[in-house]
Amino acid sequence: MVVLGLVVGGAVACGSGGGEPAEDGPAVAGTETATERKYLLERVGEAAVVQLYADGFEALPLDQKTLVYHLYLAALAGRDIFYDQRYAHNLEMREVLEQILTHADGVEVATRRKIERYTKLFWINTGPYNNLTARKFVLTGPPEAFAAAARQAADAGAVFPTRGDETLDAMLARMEPLFFDASVDPSVTTKTPGPDEDMLAASANNLYVDVTMADLEGFTEQYVLNSRLVKRDGRLVEEVYSIDGKYGEPIAEIVSHLEAAIPYATEPMAKALEALARFYRTGEDADREAYDIAWVQDTASPVDTINGFIEVYMDARGAKGAWEALVYYVNPAKTEAIQSLAASAQWFEDRMPWDPKYRKEGVRGITANAIDVVIETGESGPVTPVGINLPNDQSVREQHGSKSISLSNVVEAYDRSTPSGFRTEFAWTPEEVARAERWSTLAGELMTNMHEVIGHASGQLADHLGGNPQAALQEQYSALEEGRADLVALYFLPDPKLVELGVVPAESHADIVLAEYESYARNALIQLRRVREGSQLEEDHMRNRQMIVRWLMDNTSAIEERNRDGKTFYVMTDVAAFREGVGRLLANVQRIKSEGDYDAAKQLFESYGIHFDPVLRDQVVERVDVLNLPSYSGFVQPTLDAVRAADGTITDVTISYPQDLMTQMLEYSGNLQP
Ligand SMILES: [Zn+2]
Repeated sequence: MVVLGLVVGGAVACGSGGGEPAEDGPAVAGTETATERKYLLERVGEAAVVQLYADGFEALPLDQKTLVYHLYLAALAGRDIFYDQRYAHNLEMREVLEQILTHADGVEVATRRKIERYTKLFWINTGPYNNLTARKFVLTGPPEAFAAAARQAADAGAVFPTRGDETLDAMLARMEPLFFDASVDPSVTTKTPGPDEDMLAASANNLYVDVTMADLEGFTEQYVLNSRLVKRDGRLVEEVYSIDGKYGEPIAEIVSHLEAAIPYATEPMAKALEALARFYRTGEDADREAYDIAWVQDTASPVDTINGFIEVYMDARGAKGAWEALVYYVNPAKTEAIQSLAASAQWFEDRMPWDPKYRKEGVRGITANAIDVVIETGESGPVTPVGINLPNDQSVREQHGSKSISLSNVVEAYDRSTPSGFRTEFAWTPEEVARAERWSTLAGELMTNMHEVIGHASGQLADHLGGNPQAALQEQYSALEEGRADLVALYFLPDPKLVELGVVPAESHADIVLAEYESYARNALIQLRRVREGSQLEEDHMRNRQMIVRWLMDNTSAIEERNRDGKTFYVMTDVAAFREGVGRLLANVQRIKSEGDYDAAKQLFESYGIHFDPVLRDQVVERVDVLNLPSYSGFVQPTLDAVRAADGTITDVTISYPQDLMTQMLEYSGNLQP
């Protein structure tokens, strides 16, 4: 499972399995040095291009750097597998675009700009389908101008992927609908097709060829996760992804890099890498399972990788794995903060502001590793998740557990690439803005950790629920549980215990609490921009956050609604009242969960969490649109280079930051001109 970051910020994987969208709201540099380097590189339409930094890499010992380097090469080796899985024409289209852009001196400027813009979106989304909507986007301008650009490029030395005796003009005519016609293969994944459509036929991805859902009836797949299903002469054939099967060439290369990495890995990690190499050789599900188990059992290695056919979101029927790779190392300071909270879970439990009969004995905090990624390819890059929980195999999860990672440097890059107008617009005073600038990254991270580690893990259910509060609370359950976890975090944020645990500096503790409470109040207003129609919230995290703020507004003196120049502000005015109210609300929310009190849950959310004033929403939308926020971000990854001795041994691995999407994409494809 992955957790996707929304426009602003991100959060780690949620213990309840759902996505954990970031609070809306200001998020910006917490340290002085960070403001000096570039995070936001450029805007391309509704996408932001953001540089990712991996600051801890240089401090790793040489054997770990060497390990990361080989895994980095393994990650790059499989990149084109995902291009091909996503769309059968992807690699050909990419080559045409890259050949034009690398031989573009003679191309007319306006045409070149259009091709460049389209190609950047193509790279960010790994093909012509928007990763948020799954819909196709096309080149603008006349096809004739595009054809003229290709001919110019050919004159300048470009080599195009023509087939056999095909002329360049014939190739361009053949491919014109791919680039220009949005009605040809309109959607990469169609989970809810029209009444006369088939979900596989209506999905343009390359996981199935001429196969419909009806064909699958009575057919038993042996390679559910790692095969392409093709109808050939009326029969279904599984093309297995393995070293001797489909994608054999890139898979062989991946395996050679994995094997080069093994001597530098810890023993448990070496076992996992060996199991992965075996799975890539055989393609057998039993070997996939053995790999999943070996990977989960490696809990303490400082470096780790995910490499394979992992998530099934791209397949309309949710069966076929899309290839992806990530290489990362543990961020020790941030992981320590999570682990120190988890180790003190019982201390917090014993002080929960609810009826002692709902306090749990022997509570264990949920742990996750905070990691910094060095590279993400395939389905996880350039658009990246902010949290991952694997493996997806439910039986392995039940018997052997799972691993969660929070992608710290991705969250940081999201935060620091956010436009600054966003925080100034909704804050009442310049002091509030300054506090947000100084503390929002740290406070946001701390809140997320407390929400996950001590929030979801806490509390005791009444016996009559049989361990299943969802059944009693039904559609109210998720929002109530997310609210409960947020309230635990808000309640303990001012506690001196956090200073004692070393997760907040004593001298700044009061400012951090103030900044977070202010930000939480503002968020209830700002988040309305996401619901541009109607007057009800549907998403559970949005419901819980509005419920908490509106309940506090009605039942305490902590938050005031103020107006200035026709604009509405939610102003947090009293920290003590805020915390006292949070404690009272939390006691009630815990009682509702522990007892499975559906009527009380429904009333709480009907009164505070669901409905909003559409006039207020229109005002918020108007203020936010002026700020021109991106809808999603594509990340430029770090680059690694090996320094070798005369005999070829690696003596160092250097890291650098290209700060340019085009340079990196052309380099990955091997099309970068020297
Ligand atoms: Zn949660």
